[in-house]
Amino acid sequence: MRSRLVAGNWKMHGSLAANRHLLERLKPGLQAIDGVQCTLCVPYPYLAQVEAALAGSGIAWGAQNVSEWPQGAYTGEVSGAMLRDFGCRHVIVGHSERRALYGEGDKQVAAKFQAAQGAGLTPILCVGETLQERESAVTEIVVGRQLAAVLDSSGVGALVNAVIAYEPVWAIGTGRTATPQQAQAVHAFIRGVVGRQDAKLAAGLRILYGGSVKAANARELFAMPDIDGGLIGGAALVAEDFIAICAAAGRN
Ligand code: PEP
Repeated sequence: MRSRLVAGNWKMHGSLAANRHLLERLKPGLQAIDGVQCTLCVPYPYLAQVEAALAGSGIAWGAQNVSEWPQGAYTGEVSGAMLRDFGCRHVIVGHSERRALYGEGDKQVAAKFQAAQGAGLTPILCVGETLQERESAVTEIVVGRQLAAVLDSSGVGALVNAVIAYEPVWAIGTGRTATPQQAQAVHAFIRGVVGRQDAKLAAGLRILYGGSVKAANARELFAMPDIDGGLIGGAALVAEDFIAICAAAGRN
C-alpha cells in the first residue's frame, strides 16, 4: 500500500509572526494524525523558522523551487544543498506558476528535478494542463510530455525517490476543483505511463492531486484509487483547514 502525503504550498505568503501563529496550531493537529506524511513547503527566508519549529515533530518541510545548478554565479538562486542545510526533505519543481510566470520549460524543470535529487531532496514534480488544453482534449499529451522530460533525463528509476503532483492549471487557486473522476483519470494515465517502463515502481509511486483542495472536497478526492494525497495551496494557510485535509488523507 502506498503511503499518503499531503504537502502545503505556502507560496509567497507569511511573516515571522503569522507563521508562528500558524505553526503553533498546525503542530499538535498534524501530530495527532496517523498514517499521513505532512510537509510544509515554505518561502526560503522562513526555512530556519520552520526547521526550529518542526524539528523532531515528524512533520516535514521543504521549499517551492530550487536551482538546477549546484553553486556559482547565479544571483538570486538557491541550491539543493542550501535547502538540505535547513533540513528540507521536499522541494516542489515545475509548479505551473513557475512555468507560466517565470518561463520554466520542461527541460529546465527536468534539470531542477535532477538537481534536487542530487542534493538528497525528494522532488514533488508538478504536471498539469491549462483550461484551453483540457478543452482541446490534449491533457494526456501535455502531461505525458511534462513527464517524459523527466523520464528521459533522469530515467524511470529516479521516480523511486520522487512524488508527482497532478495539478490542472485551471483548478489552481480558482475554487474550481477537478472532479474526483477527472483527477483519477489523469492519475491513472500517469501511473500507466510510468508502469509501461517499470510496473513495480509505478505501483509504489505517490501521485498527489492539487487544485482547490478544501476540507469539504478532500475526502472524495483521496478516496480515488490512484490519488495518494494532495498538494494544497490556499487551504494550507488556515490551520484547521490544512489539518482537516491531512486527516482526510488517512486511509478511508
Ligand atoms: C498550488 O498552489 O499548488 C495549489 C494547488 O493551490 P490551491 O490549493 O490554492 O488551488
